[in-house]
Amino acid sequence: MKIYCIPFAFALLLLQACSPAKQLPHSRPELYDHHVHFLSPGFIDFWKKMGIPFSKADHFYSDVDSIFSLSGCEKMKLISMAYVFSSEEFGGGSKDAIDQMRTENDYLAALKSKYPSRISAYYGIDPLQAYAVDEIQRCHKTLKLDGIKLHGNASQIYLTEPVHLQKVKTVFHYASDHKIPVLLHFDNSHPKFGERDVRLLADSVLYGLAFVDLQIAHFGTSGGFTQKTKNVLDAFIGLFNEKHPISTQNIKFDISAVCLDKDSDGVSKLTEAEFLELAGYVRKLGLHRIVFGTDYPLYNAREYLAILKTKLSLTDKEIAQLLADK
Ligand SMILES: [Zn+2]
Repeated sequence: MKIYCIPFAFALLLLQACSPAKQLPHSRPELYDHHVHFLSPGFIDFWKKMGIPFSKADHFYSDVDSIFSLSGCEKMKLISMAYVFSSEEFGGGSKDAIDQMRTENDYLAALKSKYPSRISAYYGIDPLQAYAVDEIQRCHKTLKLDGIKLHGNASQIYLTEPVHLQKVKTVFHYASDHKIPVLLHFDNSHPKFGERDVRLLADSVLYGLAFVDLQIAHFGTSGGFTQKTKNVLDAFIGLFNEKHPISTQNIKFDISAVCLDKDSDGVSKLTEAEFLELAGYVRKLGLHRIVFGTDYPLYNAREYLAILKTKLSLTDKEIAQLLADK
């Protein structure tokens, strides 16, 4: 497997890990990290057997106390990557994909049970699989987890394909009917991913849904801040400005892995000009539409918040807006 082809969030898990949180003043505000990854011990073994190198000890990825202490946040959205197992590329075409997916989502439930008030648990679903809705129901009704995580690249979701579109709609309808939030890594890594996909999401998936609580990961692409990210954001901002029906829905963008001050696998850190441009987009999109997240273990929360503050010249008021409940 070529490491640089691993979706950004995965690669970061493997190749980079943040430094532990430093001691902080007592008066610090509570930090909610809306984008935190874990891997179960079984998942780590599975990837090790596929030859994927891990730079840190297993507890960085699988032990919830370590994750809290290393990330430095008080609350988190904890994200299962169970969708990986049905992927030819990232799950190696595993014959046990269904069982592995369930085991990973079960492990998420175990982590959540330790800190139920501090963890919002997002289970991994590949919407293109025939068993997708069964697993959503199991995670929702039996495990009582909080939200659905979809990954456009791992699951190779193309809304331009009518069959894919229909399957994604089924998931969003279930989420709407049961008031379940969705965290969407939208980018499928196709070079042409962009405005057309945003339009399809808005017109053919979200339009008319009674309940939407949607978090778009990494400002719409796969980390960093590129022309593609700007195209996706411009498409959403255009819809909001033209008062498209989605403009009144609860749609947020997480800034995890966007404001990079270090190179990471295949993605360059931002130049000073790009930080400035990103700051413009943050304000154009509006802080009421942005949630804080790190893509742990890429950064710890305190470290990344300081980078946002410095590199984007955010005022104290803007930081408060960023961290406010949405
Ligand atoms: Zn991620």
